[in-house]
Amino acid sequence: MHEFRDIDGKLHCEKVSVAKIAKAVGTPFYLYSHHTLASHFAAVDGAFAAVPHITAYAVKANSNLAILRLFAGLGGGADIVSGGELFRALKAGVPRSKIVFAGVGKNREEIAEALRAKILLFNVESAQELRVIDDVARKQKTRARISLRVNPHIDPKTHPYISTGLKKSKFGIDIDTALEHYKLAATLKGIEVVGVHHHIGSQLTDVQPFVEAMARVLELVDRLNDHGIAIRYLDMGGGLGIPYQNEEPPSPREMADAVLPLLRGRNVTLILEPGRVLVGNAGILVTKVLYTKEGEAKNFVVVDAGMSDLIRPSLYEAYHEIRPVARTSRPPRVVDVVGPICESGDFLAQNRELPSCEPGDLLAVMSAGAYGFAMASRYNSRPFIPEVLVKGNRFFVIRARETYRDLVRGEAIPPFLKNA
Ligand SMILES: *Cc1c(COP(=O)(O)O)cnc(C)c1O
Repeated sequence: MHEFRDIDGKLHCEKVSVAKIAKAVGTPFYLYSHHTLASHFAAVDGAFAAVPHITAYAVKANSNLAILRLFAGLGGGADIVSGGELFRALKAGVPRSKIVFAGVGKNREEIAEALRAKILLFNVESAQELRVIDDVARKQKTRARISLRVNPHIDPKTHPYISTGLKKSKFGIDIDTALEHYKLAATLKGIEVVGVHHHIGSQLTDVQPFVEAMARVLELVDRLNDHGIAIRYLDMGGGLGIPYQNEEPPSPREMADAVLPLLRGRNVTLILEPGRVLVGNAGILVTKVLYTKEGEAKNFVVVDAGMSDLIRPSLYEAYHEIRPVARTSRPPRVVDVVGPICESGDFLAQNRELPSCEPGDLLAVMSAGAYGFAMASRYNSRPFIPEVLVKGNRFFVIRARETYRDLVRGEAIPPFLKNA
């Protein structure tokens, strides 16, 4: 549940009026609720309290330092997928003993940095990567703790772009060949095998795929045990869905109740990598109506945020609820809410019934805390927009709006062009 609600017809985040923040920081901007973030973390972490576990927040969902710090302060770790995310996690104070590193394309430098930082483990996605990690670790005269990311062939029944555990997926190692890979790993001097990892997809709305994937992975764990390879960490990834429209995803408690019985009697530390479920409904994107336009076939509401700020509608045809920041009694109209970017695919909503809008109105794009700012770009030379965190009756800018100067930072005109 979240902390964005109407008070006297005006949308508030916790106790602060959204319009008041818009006045202070301008539009568009992202807005997060501290209370929602903290209570979502407690719901996930608490659901698995009965077993040794690490709640390693999937940094890619929303990588702002303040949010990483918030979860670290509540006992969270980090699931990272790049050297940049490692840098952020360390800077935010995430304990290195709770950092796990996934991703199909880790390069040598990133691997070396993570080894120097003494992270908990690498989730390895291919045999070649395993050999590179082995090599880098030996050069550092250390051993890298690893899990293999296995692909259990479970259909998560979600959008194909966010399904990751099927046979055709680029992620992980086929579970049927995993034993061979583990046997190889066990012979490498720079490698210490400690776990098994899987992550089958995102925005799952049913517990069954989680249960089936875990059952398959546990069969592998037993086989590994028969071969003298002991598994201490069992990483079940993230993927728990959230309500965007009328989905009814399981609660973290329901997920735990379904999965934990499978682990009974096993001496393992469970690793969870929740992303969307922690941050998705803890954030909104606030945008201002610039123009309304009557087309031949459609009515458009042109707003000041676009696909460069929130790409999910364009990329996945994702649904985000849109509501006026100030309640109105104007009659509803069916509109496309579109951004200023020079692309036909630049929309936040299509064929959506909204109370009719006027220039200057503020709109809230709901459930935008996950894969929102994190996927933003500067396409069309649009500076990155601010992020704001509300706690109780106060708000804090946790990322300043970029300036035009930020846009060209690092660019250079070579001398031969200067005199032209
Ligand atoms: C993206 C990702 C996650 C987080 O997924 P959510 O659906 O946001 O919970 C966790 N683990 C890995 C390996 C990922 O790639």
